[in-house]
Amino acid sequence: MPGDDSLFTTLIATAVDGITVIDERGIIRVFSQACERLFQYAASDVVGQNVNMLMPEPYREAHDSYINRYKTTGEARIIGIGREVHGQRKDGSVFPMYLSVGEGRLNGNRIFVGIIHDLTELYSVREARDAEKAFLASIVESSNDAIVAKTLDGVITSWNDAAERMFGYKASEIVGKPITLLFPPDRLVEESEILAKLRAGEGVHHYETIRKRKDGGLIDVSVTISPMRDASGRIVAASKTIRDITDRKAAEARLQSLQNELSHVARLTEMSQVSAAIAHELNQPLTAILNYTNVAKRLIASVNPASTPKAYEAVSKAGDQAVRAGQIIRRLRDFVEKRESNRTVEDINLIADDAIALGLIGAKSANIRTCIKFADRPPPIYVDRVQIQQVMVNLLRNAVEAMSTCQRRELTISTVAMDGAGVEVVVADTGPGIAPEIGDRLFKPFVTTKAGGMGIGLAISQTIIESHGGRLWMNPNSPGGTVFHFTIPAATGLE
Ligand code: ADP
Repeated sequence: MPGDDSLFTTLIATAVDGITVIDERGIIRVFSQACERLFQYAASDVVGQNVNMLMPEPYREAHDSYINRYKTTGEARIIGIGREVHGQRKDGSVFPMYLSVGEGRLNGNRIFVGIIHDLTELYSVREARDAEKAFLASIVESSNDAIVAKTLDGVITSWNDAAERMFGYKASEIVGKPITLLFPPDRLVEESEILAKLRAGEGVHHYETIRKRKDGGLIDVSVTISPMRDASGRIVAASKTIRDITDRKAAEARLQSLQNELSHVARLTEMSQVSAAIAHELNQPLTAILNYTNVAKRLIASVNPASTPKAYEAVSKAGDQAVRAGQIIRRLRDFVEKRESNRTVEDINLIADDAIALGLIGAKSANIRTCIKFADRPPPIYVDRVQIQQVMVNLLRNAVEAMSTCQRRELTISTVAMDGAGVEVVVADTGPGIAPEIGDRLFKPFVTTKAGGMGIGLAISQTIIESHGGRLWMNPNSPGGTVFHFTIPAATGLE
């Protein structure tokens, strides 16, 4: 080899890329300093050896045949072309390199000159970038949010698994299609607004709207859209993250309705305090009326009762009404006053009396015929009197309301002694019966068919009766209407 040519020697010595020369049998003739660094061999270790020692298997074994094939067929796989291959260092480690091979002739012999560019660093950058890409891709794929990319014309370019689950389209079905496929018709206008924002370089953050699934179903979503830029900073596309917030919306709606119910309860509580106060206020004038009517009766009697019987009768009736109003007010006050639960031994008929007086206020004017059948000497019960009244008042008011739209309005209230085991109270109406949409949820809270109803009356009543060891149930009346029953066990004598 022309080692004495100083320019050539300098070139070989200083070239950053490795330079090697092999002959047509694959024997190394020149091995530059850069090659020594790359392969960790001294030139003296390799010159005169087969170049395949610098290659990992399986290339090492196959290399001689590569040379022979080239020599016989002239078919070049690497010569004059160059490609990425792997080299093997002295310690056995393998590294990526770019090898370009040129062919020449020296003293009538064919030689091959290989230039070796180390790709280790490039590969590690590439690997890091690939790892980052894979990491990002795994985030996109494992996300519970739909992540979708689209062009600035609104054409979908990528679609992750969550998008598939959320919207029901497979990536193969929807990539290349307009994103407006996901828009309900009345929301289409949003897309042009979104695109205008994107073109202006702005994003859209947590925008709550509605989108459409493949099956036509609508879902509540929160959408975040960011512009995607190319290397020069130009906006070329957009990424969309879409979160299904249907459950959250439903929970919010439930919460809202609970809040409404609660504020209604609060209003009722306030009302009950007001009515207690009103009851107290009215008691005084009623007592005064009673006193005055008594005085008037005495005066009429002392003057000439025979000449003024009509006046006497009228004043008496006025007095009776004042007594009645006073009783209603007393019951109402007992009923609505806030109190601790308090159980005593009671007679169901007396409780029912009070409950009927309260529950049927206004029933006469509603044209309801009432039939009351009380048990003879029912067994005593150990109850919270007001709570049992509350149950009865609720059943009675429900019955009155149910019959308001019916022709036949008959209400039967009975108390029945159950062979010493306790008492049963029955409230039967001739209303329309329980609405089919209520089904078996009758005693569940917040089930109501009334515009202003709270749907808690029966739920509370059931809790009250069960806490007294009894049972509350319903069966249809014949030929129409509803019969509610409840039982209360007899006081055991221990109380
Ligand atoms: P609310 O009266 O506030 O609706 P309730 O728990 O007392 O609450 O009653 C729940 C529902 O049960 C009512 O809305 C009504 O549809 C039905 N219901 C109760 N009692 C009767 C009845 N006697 N006849 C027909 N439906 C009734």
